[in-house]
Amino acid sequence: MVDYDVIVAGGGLTGTIAAQSIAHYSNQNLKILSIDRNLEIYPGRKSLSGWTCGDACSKEAVDYMTKRIKVQWTRPEIEHDVKGVMAFSPDKETKIPFDGAGYMLNRQKLQEIQNQRARKMGVDFDFEINLTGLIYDEQQVVGVQGIDNKTKLPYKKTAKIVVDATGVTSMLRNTLKNSTKVEKRIDRRDLESTGRYIMYFEPGTKELTEFDPDYCIIHLDQDIAPGGYGWVFPKGEKKVNIGLGVEKTLLEKRNIRLGKKDNVQTLMEEYLHRNPVIKNAKLSQDPEDINNNSGIFQVSVRRQNDCMVSGGYMMVGDSAWMPKPIDAGGIGPALIAGTIIGNNVVQAIEQNDVSEKNLWQYNLDFIKE
Ligand SMILES: Cc1cc2nc3c(=O)[nH]c(=O)nc-3n(C[C@H](O)[C@H](O)[C@H](O)COP(=O)(O)OP(=O)(O)OC[C@H]3O[C@@H](n4cnc5c(N)ncnc54)[C@H](O)[C@@H]3O)c2cc1C
Repeated sequence: MVDYDVIVAGGGLTGTIAAQSIAHYSNQNLKILSIDRNLEIYPGRKSLSGWTCGDACSKEAVDYMTKRIKVQWTRPEIEHDVKGVMAFSPDKETKIPFDGAGYMLNRQKLQEIQNQRARKMGVDFDFEINLTGLIYDEQQVVGVQGIDNKTKLPYKKTAKIVVDATGVTSMLRNTLKNSTKVEKRIDRRDLESTGRYIMYFEPGTKELTEFDPDYCIIHLDQDIAPGGYGWVFPKGEKKVNIGLGVEKTLLEKRNIRLGKKDNVQTLMEEYLHRNPVIKNAKLSQDPEDINNNSGIFQVSVRRQNDCMVSGGYMMVGDSAWMPKPIDAGGIGPALIAGTIIGNNVVQAIEQNDVSEKNLWQYNLDFIKE
């Protein structure tokens, strides 16, 4: 007898989409538990500095989710609409549009609303649980373990399937014992160190290559963001999510080439101050930004894990390195994988077979989409 049918480890963006999808496809007939290390008042926070993200996602990916599992995103979780993404060359002479219409999200609000919705769909929540590993019965994953930060006591919960949505640093994947097919560690060159500010500003010179209220702007420039790019994403006429991502070995080379000692933080400062449109910028003090207006976090930029399942275990979102290698966009893949995994989980449980072989279809379904 297990505690739950499904445990979703990690109650961030992807975990709570997956939980809602499982509830949807099972007609709310499965017992689902979402476990997260955050306090309940900071649901889905990536780290102490907040929900660090560029906050941009495509309308197409949101529509994909809405059409299939009937989860809708509106205001206030969508803060601003954009017509697309525009990438500029260093001299700004060349520009490439991509991704189509999209949204700028408020990740904190989004998470609060996602959790309310998941609760209404019957999902249970455990907060302040620091998960450290999986529980096994021979070659099968049968639960999770960790520490309950409220009581400081060991925590254990069992389930037929554990969905790992604990993000890029996943301890569950790192220590996975029942698979030789799942890659456990990521090459550090496949990780970008990224940071951003959420700010209000007074508009300076009008220059649509530097800030455009209708477009998410990307600056490709190896001096500004070696191995990555800088971004200026509008959250309103005078509000912006501005940041950049770098690959650390390329940053070291760039520093040697230019005789500098920059790190992500100093590059972010330089990038902000060189922008002629964004003047007198101040970190947003809005209640929904105050705990999230400045932060640095990692994102993977490689193909997803070749194998995302083992007996009783499935990965989704950043834990499976799903962000797209070209632009580090992880919200779109999270919406798609979070949606499809619900169907795969429900089918496997209904067939009473949660073996690696029977969960394999999820690998194929994700690649197809
Ligand atoms: C600076 C930056 C900018 C980005 N910009 C964009 C963008 O503009 N557009 C886009 O599409 N993508 C962007 N991304 C990527 C996007 O933010 C991620 O793909 C997305 O947040 C992934 O969500 P997730 O739920 O899989 O992981 P996370 O958001 O990392 O959530 C993981 C959850 O699991 C919890 N958790 C972790 N470990 C444990 C544990 N041991 N025990 C219990 N709980 C745990 C965490 O607290 C968190 O709640 C960006 C990323 C960064 C870092």
